[in-house]
Amino acid sequence: MLSVIIPSYNEEENIENTAGVVTRILDENSIDFEIVFVNDGSKDKTWEKMRELSMKDKRIVSVNFSRNFGKESAIFAGLRASCGDCAVIMDCDLQHPPETIIKMYDIWKSGQADVVEGVKTYRGKESAVYGGFSKLFYKLIKKASGLDMTGASDFRLLDRKVVDALNEMPERLTFFRALSSWVGFKTEKVYFEVADRYSGKSKWSFKSLVRYAVSSITSFTSAPMQIVTACGAILFVMSLVLGANTLYNYIAGNAREGFTTVIMLLLLTSSIIMFSLGIIGYYLSKIYEEIKRRPRYIVMDVLNKKTEKGKNKDD
Ligand code: UDP
Ligand code: MG
Repeated sequence: MLSVIIPSYNEEENIENTAGVVTRILDENSIDFEIVFVNDGSKDKTWEKMRELSMKDKRIVSVNFSRNFGKESAIFAGLRASCGDCAVIMDCDLQHPPETIIKMYDIWKSGQADVVEGVKTYRGKESAVYGGFSKLFYKLIKKASGLDMTGASDFRLLDRKVVDALNEMPERLTFFRALSSWVGFKTEKVYFEVADRYSGKSKWSFKSLVRYAVSSITSFTSAPMQIVTACGAILFVMSLVLGANTLYNYIAGNAREGFTTVIMLLLLTSSIIMFSLGIIGYYLSKIYEEIKRRPRYIVMDVLNKKTEKGKNKDD
């Protein structure tokens, strides 16, 4: 059986259509499936729509969060609630073409891969600024962790083994896209073009994207911490040169000069120290957050969840 996991936040106009399209396509290809909708604390009628669908169709599982916990949490809740032999994560707005699920499923079925990644060939309509930032983001990730994730998306199929491995992960602050590559397993790629949003507009604000980018990078690599060390090394070399120069001036008897240099150095070093403290502080706060062991999300209601298989520790 295939589980289709769909995190949704304020998607009242999309739920019914998406469920319809996915159901039709999977039925046509006679694939046994369940759809797992996760309502990520929507402020509109998303949950009511999900409930209606779950009432009508037993194959539609609905999970309701107590508030908005973010897409990452919604994906992990979906993985927890799913019990298929494999699971596909897709967006609620049909930007991830459902036909691609069939391609992914066939690759998985033939035993070629345990993970089938959806890779964007065309990123859809987006602003130049957004595109630029996303390029920079993936460049940073690649530099820092060696994972080439250009064009990566959350749209991917995971075998049960992989889902279980991800469910075992104890950490709270996650970056699903990278984590599902990090676990390894046989991976294949499927290319797709991002379609237009079916209805409504993107649920990410600029602020939430920046926060997502920073938290993704730091949850995946400690490379920014090395910037601190690098700055220290550079400043040390500078201090050797300037130190020698200052000593020479002192001995030569013209030590009064260099007031500007003092101010410049003071400004430079103090700003680098503060910048470094900021980076360290950020990681510290992440450690603090992890160590509190708070749950990644809080589930309020679940409908139609199957219990025989895929038993679940936290319920
Ligand atoms: N989403 C979510 N929680 C959030 C923000 C978004 O579950 O806090 C879901 C949203 O409902 C959609 C998917 O994540 O199914 C992708 O969001 P969106 O289409 O807004 O992002 P974009 O396609 O613009 O990257
Ligand atoms: Mg979208």
